[in-house]
Amino acid sequence: MEWVACAGEASQGALGARLLRCATALRVTSFRRFGWESTMGAKRGFASHVCLEKMADMQDRELYRQILGIESPWFVERVELQQENGEIHVHLNHDSSDWVCGECGKRCGLYDHQPERRWRHLDTCQYRTILHASPPRTDCDEHGPRVVKLPWAEPGGRFTALFEALAIEWLKQASKAAVAAQLKLSWDEIHTIQRRAVSRGLRRRTAEPVRYIGIDEKAYKTGHVYLTLVNDLEKGRVLFVTEDREEKSLDRFWLTLAREQLEGIEAVAVDMWDAYLNSLRKHLPNADTKIVFDKFHIAQHLTDAIDRVRRKENKVLLAEGDKRLKGTRWNWLKNPANMTLSAKREFAELKNSTLKSARAWALKQAAMRLFDYQSETWARKHFQWWHNWATHSRLEPMRKVAQMMKRRLDNIITYLQHPITNAGSESINSKLQWVKYTARGFRNKQNFMTAIYFHCGGLDMRPATH
Ligand SMILES: [Zn+2]
Repeated sequence: MEWVACAGEASQGALGARLLRCATALRVTSFRRFGWESTMGAKRGFASHVCLEKMADMQDRELYRQILGIESPWFVERVELQQENGEIHVHLNHDSSDWVCGECGKRCGLYDHQPERRWRHLDTCQYRTILHASPPRTDCDEHGPRVVKLPWAEPGGRFTALFEALAIEWLKQASKAAVAAQLKLSWDEIHTIQRRAVSRGLRRRTAEPVRYIGIDEKAYKTGHVYLTLVNDLEKGRVLFVTEDREEKSLDRFWLTLAREQLEGIEAVAVDMWDAYLNSLRKHLPNADTKIVFDKFHIAQHLTDAIDRVRRKENKVLLAEGDKRLKGTRWNWLKNPANMTLSAKREFAELKNSTLKSARAWALKQAAMRLFDYQSETWARKHFQWWHNWATHSRLEPMRKVAQMMKRRLDNIITYLQHPITNAGSESINSKLQWVKYTARGFRNKQNFMTAIYFHCGGLDMRPATH
């Protein structure tokens, strides 16, 4: 490097050493550009030293002007390196009194300045970099004093737009703990950045059509605290998240939709949960032709019924010394397609037996065939046959599910028209797993909901710059 060669010459004299120290502190990489040769004469040493400092300072200011994308009327007034605490402070100023109102964009004069504020910017090498400026306020005829829009940060932020953008990108990829440690941010700062990103993204959403939605409940932590999620099943994103799983929880969602969006909904995948159904019937036009009970939720009811039959039967068999059902719980719950060959063979013997559990299992398989039909008429005939079998099976848990399904059949059969389920949205589910996995740092439900929007909302969260 050029300056290393020069340093050799400089070390010959006291002035050279001094200049070298000064240049190093200012991170000047090329002496020659600063008129090194002309300073070799010792007599003009002091003047050259001052000149070098001034020129280096100019270079820093120009560098920061370019890095920050600062344009007239703003300029970099001063760059200050605080080596002891590893910080660079960039002081900004302006030379104009001609501004536009932050509210209406009309040209106005300067009213006054707000007290100096600080913004954390992207680090310069290892140095934490902080911008300083006093935001001007305009004197708008219509709106009165208003703070102008600043080119490097959004209103109210403690970070520059570029810093927020960086933090957002990292938060998408890494845990909050990792981002906090790497970017030296507190939890509060992380949550603030996330919250601002989400509200920015939600503000930018347009009233585009959403054909298929899924309404799902999610348990928050381990307690009986629930959230209601509304998903866009086609785009695999969370449209809405709110507290609880009551009728009024879902009521809040409809208010976020434009009229055309509401009318454009073709079908809704939902669990057989009356609170949601009430809200749907109240708000969604022709709701009953659009409600599709989630097929996996129905499968879950049938699986629970098998389990109840098996538990009861196992007790009876054990009392007689028959251990056939002992330790078989998971075999009955699993899909045989996912079993190993030997497990499959063992289970085949059980499911072909005359055990009640085997009958319950067969009932579930038959019930789920309902969803393979193309024609509604044939599906209804199949259900009639199945319902008759289930209610005469003398298996109480199965009889109960059969009754429930009969009551709900109209909205189970809608699946043939609109084959949608909440489980279909894999991208949402895997991201939700990630949110839950990193949920340790959530001190409250609000932060958790923000994180759901952040990771699963499909939002454009980039900060706006001007
Ligand atoms: Zn105005």
